[in-house]
Amino acid sequence: MRKLDPSGSILITGGGGFIGGWMVHEAIKRGFSSIRSVDIKPFDEWYQVHAGAENLIGDLRNPDDCRKAVHGINYVINLAADMGGMGYIEAHRARCMISVLINTNLLCAAKEAGAVRFFYASSACVYNVAKQRDADVTPLKEEDAYPAMPEDGYGWEKLFSERMCRHFREDFGVQTRVARYHNVYGPHGTWFGGREKAPAALCRKVAEAKLSGKHEIEIWGDGGQTRTFMYIDDCVFGTLMLTASDFADPVNIGSAELVTLNQLVDTLESIAGITLRRKYILDAPKGVRGRSSDNTLIQKAFGWEPKISLQEGLEKTYRWIYDQVVAGSQLPKVAKA
Ligand code: NAD
Repeated sequence: MRKLDPSGSILITGGGGFIGGWMVHEAIKRGFSSIRSVDIKPFDEWYQVHAGAENLIGDLRNPDDCRKAVHGINYVINLAADMGGMGYIEAHRARCMISVLINTNLLCAAKEAGAVRFFYASSACVYNVAKQRDADVTPLKEEDAYPAMPEDGYGWEKLFSERMCRHFREDFGVQTRVARYHNVYGPHGTWFGGREKAPAALCRKVAEAKLSGKHEIEIWGDGGQTRTFMYIDDCVFGTLMLTASDFADPVNIGSAELVTLNQLVDTLESIAGITLRRKYILDAPKGVRGRSSDNTLIQKAFGWEPKISLQEGLEKTYRWIYDQVVAGSQLPKVAKA
């Protein structure tokens, strides 16, 4: 399997966020000599701040900040976006769509600077919603994004930006690579505040129930909606593998282990050693009824697919979120590395 050359310079945008923080961690582990991490947030809100990287604050909707970020860079990993779980993206469609400026201006800057690789983090939200109406869903193949009817707002932005990556490659020779992530979770992610996704939100609720002795949990929807969840280590590994490769079409990077939200809660209850009364909030944002990743293409191209089990990933994530709840912190934890 081909790897990015660590003597090259790498830019990780959204480096103060969940996946970006872990991507910088991995780049340091792989011995990259020059790592630049850029995020719009002030440093005290970054989820991880790594001393082994050049950390910069910048607004990548702005072309000048993109030029500064990409200057002297060989590999661009674009993980910056205004996003969150269903509660956030359903309520902030315009804000999610404004992220189109980040990818557009970064692509232009990468073209100008002659970057040799450009990775874009797309999402399973690009898939046609009509194919996701059943909990017993047929796993989504890459061609199921067309004819297009993605998740409103966020999904349209992702599909448009994918398309832009394709045309920058075809017309300008920028070597773009695109992954469609399916629900990524793990420690050092968003776990409170309104942008958190289902696994982190449920870990927090289970930890709060355990600590308070109030053995009840609120679940959005009827708990029968299905999803797959990918642990962060698989996401980071798959992203760097794809970026180094010659594979230019969008590809799913997601787990194929399909569960209902009720089953996710079952797993968390057994990890925490409690049983909770479940209160279903039927009018809360729920997203599509069922979604799973068809991994035929990634298997064929790379002989690999995400493999960390939900049980293993949730044990680590629950432990980390439990510790945050115990610490009573209402601020993201900053790890110095
Ligand atoms: P995150 O919110 O933790 O990280 C995104 C980071 O981008 C944040 O730290 C944010 O401050 C930064 N950002 C936002 N606007 C910016 C701007 N104008 N300039 C610079 N930085 C800006 O999210 P994440 O989970 O780490 O997601 C990373 C990428 O992966 C995003 O593109 C997201 O859409 C995509 N994705 C994530 C998931 C998932 O399950 N986490 C699933 C599918 C796709």
